Amino acid sequence: MHARAARLTYIAIATLFAATLVRAQQPPQATPPPPALTAAEARELLFSNAEPNSAADACARLPERDASVDCLLSERYASDPAAQRIALSLRRELNVVAGIETPHTMNGGFRGMIRIVGEAPVGPHRRHLEWVSRALRDFDQFAQGLARHAQRPLAYHPLPTALRFLRSVNRTTPSAYARDWRVSYNVSGSLLRNEASVRETLFHEIFHLNDEVHTSGTQRRWSARVLTRISDRILRRCGTNRRCLAPYAPSTTTVRGGTYYAFQPGNGGSVPEYAAELALRYYQEQRAALRHERFDRGAFKCGPPENAEAWRLLVDEFFGGADLISACP
Ligand SMILES: [Zn+2]
Repeated sequence: MHARAARLTYIAIATLFAATLVRAQQPPQATPPPPALTAAEARELLFSNAEPNSAADACARLPERDASVDCLLSERYASDPAAQRIALSLRRELNVVAGIETPHTMNGGFRGMIRIVGEAPVGPHRRHLEWVSRALRDFDQFAQGLARHAQRPLAYHPLPTALRFLRSVNRTTPSAYARDWRVSYNVSGSLLRNEASVRETLFHEIFHLNDEVHTSGTQRRWSARVLTRISDRILRRCGTNRRCLAPYAPSTTTVRGGTYYAFQPGNGGSVPEYAAELALRYYQEQRAALRHERFDRGAFKCGPPENAEAWRLLVDEFFGGADLISACP
């Protein structure tokens, strides 16, 4: 569905260069880096579900933001020192705050209505915090590696500012969703069963966050503006037929009783999902190339012409033209 001290100089450089590029009338325009959470926002994110807490109030009153947020994290994760260490290092190294979701009922489109409750990633759920932590470090390194191969600075922010851990009552969906630079993560999520699938699900969500800020004037998110034409062409040809859609599907994820996630109807418009799955495929292929690993499913861009066109549009808009995959034969 839809979704840094050490926050890397490349973002600052990207913003700087992008200003120059815009003046020169060249696409794409970069977006400013997302603002870090304030101490008040961190307090809300960490304690909105908990009983009134005088220690948390004292943390929130500390004058210095980082010290205040670290104090809040220490307090919230006090019951699980191992989780506490991970949460603190995420804040200190990547400036990401690992918080708790607010209870609510969501309209999950084809999934129906879903009750969501907050669930701290501690005790039996701590492994999720470990996987997320490794995933975010991977994205950070990925963006740095990619930047070395890009023709211009990336217009892509690889990290959210905050996480919201949750559980869906009697359900295993949605695995994750994202908005306003926050990623919500379901400890019962069907897609979140190992480190690799957590990494891939989070990359998909973080792409949504980038997509939603790549607006143009008053125009909608990038995917809707730019990829609808291609996605519509594929849907006209294939409908929901899996065999027909297979060569166009950037990932193997499918909906039970439905079709490929990238083309599933009733999902709030499938174009953002096509875009996020395309971005995930880009990540998988480029990551393998950067690590000198083999990618088994071949080069997406060397499939049907629609794939090559969507790939090129994505690479140019978000990733500074960086493409480590050889030209198609
Ligand atoms: Zn999505």
